[in-house]
Amino acid sequence: GRLVEPAEDLDDRAAEAALRPGSLDDFVGQRAVREQLSLVLEAARRRGRAPDHVLLSGPPGLGKTTLAMIVAAELGQSLRISSGPAIQHAGDLAAVLSSLEEGEVLFVDEVHRMARPAEEMLYVAMEDFRVDVVVGKGAGATAIPLHLPPFTLVGATTRSGLLPAPLRDRFGFTGHLDFYAPDELEQVLRRSAQLLGVELTAAGGAEIARRSRGTPRIANRLLRRVRDWSQVRGTGVVDADAARAALRVYEVDELGLDRLDRSVLDALCRRFGGGPVGLSTLAVAVGEEPDTVETVAEPFLVREGLLGRTPRGRVATADGWAHLGLRPPLGAPL
Ligand code: ADP
Repeated sequence: GRLVEPAEDLDDRAAEAALRPGSLDDFVGQRAVREQLSLVLEAARRRGRAPDHVLLSGPPGLGKTTLAMIVAAELGQSLRISSGPAIQHAGDLAAVLSSLEEGEVLFVDEVHRMARPAEEMLYVAMEDFRVDVVVGKGAGATAIPLHLPPFTLVGATTRSGLLPAPLRDRFGFTGHLDFYAPDELEQVLRRSAQLLGVELTAAGGAEIARRSRGTPRIANRLLRRVRDWSQVRGTGVVDADAARAALRVYEVDELGLDRLDRSVLDALCRRFGGGPVGLSTLAVAVGEEPDTVETVAEPFLVREGLLGRTPRGRVATADGWAHLGLRPPLGAPL
C-alpha cells in the first residue's frame, strides 16, 4: 500500500501543512465543488445548525483533507481527524464519537477502509446522533444508547463507489474532486512559491505544473525538489532550466508519470502485450493492491489517454505504447 509515501519526509509534511489554503477563497480550482460546498455551509450557518455530512471523493493529493479543514474553519468549529484504517473496532469509533462536542467536524480519511461493525455504528451515529454501547457478553449483553451532540462528518475516499450504499446514502452532499488543469496548478505553485520565499519564473511554474500529474500535492513537492536543485547546482531561481534538470534527476518523465504509473503501463505493454488484462492480474504484476492500481494509477493514465478500460480488461492505447518508446505489435488491441 501507499499509506506512507517514501518521498514524504518530515520536512515535506511540515511544508505541506504550511501550504494548505485556509479558506474556500484560497482554494484553487474545483469550481463546482467549491460553489456547492459554500452553499451547504452558508445555509447551515444561517439556520444555526450543523450542516449535512459531506463526502469527498477523488485520487490522493487533490485537496480532500484541505477541504475538511476549510469546512471546520468556515464553520468556526474545531476539526477532529481520524481514518478508516485506524478504526478497526466499533469501540475505536465509539471512543471518537463520544468525545465529540456540539457542532464539531469529524474528518475520517479513507472512510471506505473502516471495519464493518464500525461502519454500522457510523450509520446510526450519522442519522440519529446516537451510539449503542454494548455492555456485557452473550445472553446478558445489553445495548445502552448514548446520545451524541449534532456534529458534521466529512468523509474522504479515493472513489465513492468503494463505499457501501447505506453509508454513501447518509452523506447529504458528495463532492467529486478531479485532476487539476495545468493553469490551476500554476496558480497553486505561484502561491506556494510566495509562501516558501522561492523565486519562481512563469516558465518554471509552467514546466512543473505540466509534470505534476494534475495533483497539487505533487506540484508542491516538485517545487521543493526543484528549489533544492537550484540552490545546490543553479542560481537559486526556479526557472524552466532548473525544473527540467531537477525533474530529470528525480526521474519524473515528460508527462509527470510516477513510478507506479510507469510500472503499470510497462507491465501492460511488455508483459501482457498491451492487454486486455484483468485488474488483479495487472496489480500482481506490479506488486500492488488492485485497489491502489485502480484508484491511484489508473485514473491518471486514463485521463492522459495512455490506458483504456474495456469490459475484457485494461488495454494500452497507441499513445501508451508511444510513451514507453515502443511500437505496438501487430494485432495489439489499441
Ligand atoms: P488529499 O486529502 O486529497 O490527499 P490534501 O488536502 O492533503 O489532499 O492536499 C495535499 C496538498 O496539496 C495540501 O497540503 C495543499 O497544500 C495542496 N492543495 C490541495 N488542493 C489545493 C488547492 N485546491 N489549492 C491549493 N493547494 C491545494
